Amino acid sequence: MHSPRFVRSIARFALLLALALPAMALASGSGRLMRDVLPTSERLRLNLDARKKGFSGSATIQLNVTTAVDSFQFHSEALKLARATLMRGKVPVATTHRQATPTTVTVHATKALAPGAYTLAIDFTGQFSAQAQGIYRLDTGGQSYCFTQFESDDARKAFPCWDEPSFKIPFSITLTVPKGHRAVANTLVARTIPAKLTTTYVFKATPPVPSYILAMATGPLEFVPIHGMSVPGNVVTVKGKSALAARAAEMIPPIMAGLERYFGRPYPYDKMDVIAVPEFWPGAMENAGAVTFRDDVLLVDPKTVAQSQLSTLSEYIAHEFAHQWFGDLVTMDWWDDLWLNEAFAEWMGDKISDEVNPQYSRGVTDLRLTQGAMSTDARLSTRAIRRPVSAMDNLLEAADELAYQKGQAVLGMFEQWLGPETFRAGVNAYLKEHEWGNAVGEDLWSALSKASGKDASSAMKTFLDQGGLPLVTADLLPGGQVKLSQKRFLNYGITAPEEALWRIPISLSYSDGSSVRTQHVLLADREMTVTLEGAKTVAWIHPNAGPSGYYRWTVSSDMMNWLASNAAVAMTPVERVGFLGNLSALLAGGLLHGDEYVRLLPRFADDPSPEVILTLMDNLEVVRRVFVTKDLADPYAGYVRRTLAPSLARFGLARREGEGAAISLLRPALIGTLADEGKDPRVLAYADSLAKVHVATPGNVDPSLIGVALEMSAIQGNEALFAEYKKRFENAEIPAERSRYLGALGYFRDPKIAEEAIQYSLQGPLRPQEVFTIPTTLATSLDYEEVPYKWMSENFGTIASKIPPMYLVYMPFTASGCSQERLEKAKVFFADPKHQVAGYEKQLAKVSDQVNDCAGLRQREGALVSAYLTQQVGSR
Ligand SMILES: [Zn+2]
Repeated sequence: MHSPRFVRSIARFALLLALALPAMALASGSGRLMRDVLPTSERLRLNLDARKKGFSGSATIQLNVTTAVDSFQFHSEALKLARATLMRGKVPVATTHRQATPTTVTVHATKALAPGAYTLAIDFTGQFSAQAQGIYRLDTGGQSYCFTQFESDDARKAFPCWDEPSFKIPFSITLTVPKGHRAVANTLVARTIPAKLTTTYVFKATPPVPSYILAMATGPLEFVPIHGMSVPGNVVTVKGKSALAARAAEMIPPIMAGLERYFGRPYPYDKMDVIAVPEFWPGAMENAGAVTFRDDVLLVDPKTVAQSQLSTLSEYIAHEFAHQWFGDLVTMDWWDDLWLNEAFAEWMGDKISDEVNPQYSRGVTDLRLTQGAMSTDARLSTRAIRRPVSAMDNLLEAADELAYQKGQAVLGMFEQWLGPETFRAGVNAYLKEHEWGNAVGEDLWSALSKASGKDASSAMKTFLDQGGLPLVTADLLPGGQVKLSQKRFLNYGITAPEEALWRIPISLSYSDGSSVRTQHVLLADREMTVTLEGAKTVAWIHPNAGPSGYYRWTVSSDMMNWLASNAAVAMTPVERVGFLGNLSALLAGGLLHGDEYVRLLPRFADDPSPEVILTLMDNLEVVRRVFVTKDLADPYAGYVRRTLAPSLARFGLARREGEGAAISLLRPALIGTLADEGKDPRVLAYADSLAKVHVATPGNVDPSLIGVALEMSAIQGNEALFAEYKKRFENAEIPAERSRYLGALGYFRDPKIAEEAIQYSLQGPLRPQEVFTIPTTLATSLDYEEVPYKWMSENFGTIASKIPPMYLVYMPFTASGCSQERLEKAKVFFADPKHQVAGYEKQLAKVSDQVNDCAGLRQREGALVSAYLTQQVGSR
């Protein structure tokens, strides 16, 4: 599954970077089902009329009783069971049933059930959800639709089942829909049965699948065939949107083929439909053969599509398709390996996306996201990414950004250590051994150890089973030697309660003054001395070549300065991205002073790589978030201009014929930062002029600049412009246009309009997943930093009525930032049981650490940074 956008925007309040938090549902209920009565297949019939409030259905489940029992349980939540009968062959078995917990039904047999095969038949009715979870309905364009989102445990709200990932069985699905509606599920249609008022779709039986990757969609759907895959498939849209499906249909086959090549086996299911859903919490979901996407991700207008949309589309498709093998074909045994499911899909998807669409530099984006995970991991509130998960846990909270980004980075590090082909052989042996079944993380490590002949397992465990990350120090010794040492990396002033040791695959790059070499070592002890091959003297050393290691690093301050000044010589572009991320960590860790930090950044102003400049803006964001108060806004604006203007001059205000995608991806960020934080009147006016053109005649502005143009035009916008953008948002036919206008509504800075915008976020015709955009966007301005927390605490009840309950776990993030006063208020607010959901305390602990780090850093280094920034202004 993929992170919803609002989670990303809430996470903007995290200290160092916008983090991509995952989207997982709440594993609620009373523990796990017993395994003495196992389902072996399920036949499911559902009557889905999306125009109605409820639905009805029947389930016929084949059971294998393995030991004599007189009762068993299955999952069923908020369903009314009209009948539940148990048969042994043709003989009815006397039973009673009752709803034992909100999510489970217990069947009692009058006499103990002898081992053997049984059939359980259940008729039931239920209500569609209106919160875009489980089985839900929605209206759009005057038509009604039904969609599903089951991960992790919401299939039980649609039909009775054994709703845990280890129960993998064939499902035979039959859907009856009103005439004129069409239906999609996980497999090809075997036949359709027309009747006077309805059409019945009988789908082929699935291979063994867990319930959480089943999917259904019904309504007046449109289908655009995807040509060139190894199986048939379509882009499926709501009525009137199929014209926006062409780009996805083009992009999918090469990604599918790339994955088939890597896994060395064909795609495992009989068809692949991708479905664009207007109301959807995650970005996308890997249902077997029926992947669902949020519509503004999947559907693009060829005339107004931005490079960033295509990059996201490539990334999302590759991630969800990678799950078809890793997650769907081989499924985690239980949710405690959810991190592996997601980390692998993230790693694999980005690898294939980079291979098929290298222009989007996905690997660089990953490295930037990894910096965020490393920041979280540098605090005591971090936890091991692999840890026990109970059925009571909120999996949204359990599978945090560490699961995705740290997990992915660690897999990447071990791929480099073992060698990509060896790693691939291990992965494919693992898939072969567990195909159609379940596995645990340990199964993958042992497959990798077997394929490589190295003890991958014990090294991986040091990164997975303990929280935190190491700091590697490289000290040059005479005679071409280097001393490497490790200790836990923690932000300044924090002492670890216990010692930790990692087995770290390290790549060193160094030069003897004439040629650059790379050497790989495993640092398994506190320290080791390495003789650098072929170097009698060492001119420079970089202790994270690639950069492929999940660790922070430091060298002497002279060497650090030398690397910064000679970055283009000593480091590849992606290593420079890593270098800048590492600098922020050294600042947070108290290993670099604030004035040194702000002095080093402009050295990258002339860097030729657009990706490095994009990362440089992450570093500027650190300066802004931590140090810039209102009195420093002007000196900071000058600093931003000095640091970024050279890039804008080099890459240009407007798109040039034949320029790389990386430049088109960078330009809107450059324009936005220079206009907003750099207060550059020329850039602001330019953005404003683009916005006017786009509003007057859409299709005449470089699509990559539309979003930023609308946002920057709003900064000085008046009531009339606000009303215009609101109207455009409400009437947008293209999903991305809707998102752009919504984003712009959060940029109006006039206090009266800002207040109106905040009201609108809950009172306007926004979809549930859109309500966070305006408050979180407003907070990017120093004047409105208080808005998200204030808005959340004053409207908690209303917000809770609009979003699935488990997503409330993210609400503590609204108190992120640098204000301990706000944090204290939040602690009081969340002490009230009415404001608590499962897992909230872990989020609050993370936010608390983040705020304290930020406030501490401001206090410690603020004077130095302030002196540097104001001096810069004075010297001009
Ligand atoms: Zn996923």
